[in-house]
Amino acid sequence: MIEKCSVGIVGGGPMGLFCALALTSKTMGRPTLRGERVAIFDPGDPRKTAGMSASAFVDFDWTTSNRRLIRWQENSRDFYRAMLAMPGTALQYGPIYVFRREARVLEPGERHLAAHELPTGFPHGTWAETFRINPPVFLEWMRAELKRRGVRFVPLQVDNFAQVNGECGAKVIVNASGVGAQALCDDPQVFPVRGHCAVVRLRNAPQEVRLVAREQTWYVASGPDECRVGGSSEENCWDLDPDPTAVKAMFQRLRPILPPEFDPDANQLAVSCGLRPGRHGGERLEAENQGNFEVVHCYGSRGDGFTRGPGCAVEVRELVLARVTLD
Ligand SMILES: Cc1cc2nc3c(=O)[nH]c(=O)nc-3n(C[C@H](O)[C@H](O)[C@H](O)COP(=O)(O)OP(=O)(O)OC[C@H]3O[C@@H](n4cnc5c(N)ncnc54)[C@H](O)[C@@H]3O)c2cc1C
Repeated sequence: MIEKCSVGIVGGGPMGLFCALALTSKTMGRPTLRGERVAIFDPGDPRKTAGMSASAFVDFDWTTSNRRLIRWQENSRDFYRAMLAMPGTALQYGPIYVFRREARVLEPGERHLAAHELPTGFPHGTWAETFRINPPVFLEWMRAELKRRGVRFVPLQVDNFAQVNGECGAKVIVNASGVGAQALCDDPQVFPVRGHCAVVRLRNAPQEVRLVAREQTWYVASGPDECRVGGSSEENCWDLDPDPTAVKAMFQRLRPILPPEFDPDANQLAVSCGLRPGRHGGERLEAENQGNFEVVHCYGSRGDGFTRGPGCAVEVRELVLARVTLD
């Protein structure tokens, strides 16, 4: 049994960390919880955290009519804007080039690409700006910040929510277990969407995002001489070991959007797979009474956990604060 706390969070991936930050943040104008009142349960195996293999860039969809999604995105945008000023996050804001085989109407903030900006085989493209995240650095920054605030990290694979209640006495448990929610709360709608990501050395890497529309083909600068490239999308595949055939096909598709002199075999630093938390019907973000305690579920963000996560965390925070006594 660890020291008593009010809120236990199952899952230390992006979603669990965003929730812990939102719950203990003093910047959102409402009362907050002291870090000591929050504990995060996660076995700590980076291979099991989809967020570690993400690209990652923020991909807002402002054409949606879904009011809840718009609110999540607005709150995410505010979060990332504030984060840009924080040292150590490695968060960047810059260009995103999307290459297309078919034309499409411009959205706010976009312009059409000129012919000289288009790679061979892509007659259309758009330019806009967005946030770029280097997941291992950003997740580590969030963990360090939460520890500084007093949040405890418990290295534990949780079998059921009563275990969390028994371990720390939490009356509210946030379920941010990603694809683990399939087993943890017996949700048959949850399924893995496996994706490949390679970290690649590239001298003077262009500081931007490049991607092919409607394809899992992307390039994201993650440092002055390093980028993350991908990817793939394989539903219901639980295998965490990269598939050499898929990796070869991925580099083939990447060829038009990477510099011609780039040699993938000579420059690969690491290749990994992550299991995006897919869910039929979309994210589950709601509270559920389980007798002695309440569970606030927050999982199923598929390929948008960084994009929507900080906004989802604001809604989680409202649900949690309505259920615990404040400091
Ligand atoms: C190749 C790839 C590229 C991507 N690119 C982007 C992108 O550009 N932009 C974007 O927004 N998103 C992107 N994503 C998606 C993003 O990574 C996910 O949406 C995000 O990681 C979901 O966060 P999560 O915390 O819900 O799940 P996860 O990241 O999977 O974290 C869940 C955590 O819960 C823990 N856990 C599970 N079960 C238990 C249990 N029973 N007890 C304790 N702990 C448990 C796991 O160990 C894990 O640490 C990408 C994903 C992949 C794979």
